[in-house]
Amino acid sequence: MRLRATSWVPLLSYGGGVILCLVSALVASNGNTPAVIIGFAGGGLAIALGLNTARQMGEKVNQLSSLHAQSELLQSQLEAQQRAVDNLADGLEVALFICDSRGQIVYANRRASELFDFRDPRGRPVLAVTLSHDLERIALDAQRTEQPQRSELSFSFPKERVGLVKAWVNPEDPGKVFLSVYDITDLRRLERIRQDFVANVSHELRTPMTLIRSMAETLLDDAEKATQSERYLTKIIDEVDRLSLMSQDLLILSAAESNPVRKHGCDIADVFRASVVQLEASAHRKGLELRYDGAKECLIEANTAQMVQVALNLIQNAINYTNTGSIVVTVKQKKDVAEISVEDTGIGIASEHLPRIFERFYRIDKGRSRNTGGTGLGLSIAKHIVEAHGGELKVDSALNRGSTFTVVLPLG
Ligand code: ADP
Repeated sequence: MRLRATSWVPLLSYGGGVILCLVSALVASNGNTPAVIIGFAGGGLAIALGLNTARQMGEKVNQLSSLHAQSELLQSQLEAQQRAVDNLADGLEVALFICDSRGQIVYANRRASELFDFRDPRGRPVLAVTLSHDLERIALDAQRTEQPQRSELSFSFPKERVGLVKAWVNPEDPGKVFLSVYDITDLRRLERIRQDFVANVSHELRTPMTLIRSMAETLLDDAEKATQSERYLTKIIDEVDRLSLMSQDLLILSAAESNPVRKHGCDIADVFRASVVQLEASAHRKGLELRYDGAKECLIEANTAQMVQVALNLIQNAINYTNTGSIVVTVKQKKDVAEISVEDTGIGIASEHLPRIFERFYRIDKGRSRNTGGTGLGLSIAKHIVEAHGGELKVDSALNRGSTFTVVLPLG
């Protein structure tokens, strides 16, 4: 090790001082008093200077070694924190990636390695590890827009999986992208099983119901004289009809849930106007006024058959739950949405029921719903269809004063 130039200063001062003192002592032995005084004073001064500089240097060395110890402590604390974050990320059920500005993975937690069956994905592009162009695109979109991106993606490697993906940039360093993938394969599989079950049950119920109905009808013809059996047979037929309606509604709901919406150009004004015409007779039989009071035309992107379903459910409900007065249907185009309302002067809905009426089989008055041929599924079907189109179904109602159901649908 070489001493620095500054290390010589105290040594030289101290050494020089000692030599000067020795020389003075020698001179003193020769009897030269002024030279002795000057020599001792100079020597003493040099020694004091040397000692002071050495003390200052000692302090500096102490400070340096304490700084060094502090930096080592900080370093070890930082490493411990890093390990804690890594352990935390490794314990998560969500796959996590951090990518650099070139789309290369700089970090992946354990779940990410398991999900994509890759031992150490670091330093490799997202596409090479996951074989998913969609995942790569989401990461790039997040980086380009600096906005969080979310999507449900299907992965085919190393096996078929469905994941909820989120990509967002690090605000401190927008070049870095965080990617999380939450595996929802099992959830989607269970949903599919449930939907298939509903569809299968509805199909299975249909055949025996049709048979029972036709047999009861035959018996009814034969039993003209026996009034009691006629009563029972009529009841059997009514109940079978109700079951048929329910099975039909379950099928509609199941189909709406399982198939992606196939949209095309749809004149929503025409759909609601035609539904009004279709249900006019039913309203008039109850002495109600039913009229369409909206735009001539309003073009949106939607599935027309499903929109007809929404229109019929809402208008039929308005007829069912109105005793006197009128039902007015309007369609308006507002900026980039179509707003449709079905307003009645009917029995209304008490506020405590409002949040629940869109639930499956929820009916405020079961008896009334049964008498009107309701299945308790009409509103849930309508809501599901509207939301699958990116729209909203709202209700505004007051007991004994009537209800207004409003559908808001995006034009495009
Ligand atoms: P339902 O087949 O019983 O009519 P829905 O799902 O269509 O089933 O509606 C659920 C419940 O919401 C109905 O049972 C009824 O109590 C209430 N409801 C629906 N529409 C109206 C309305 N226009 N006025 C008053 N109550 C309504």
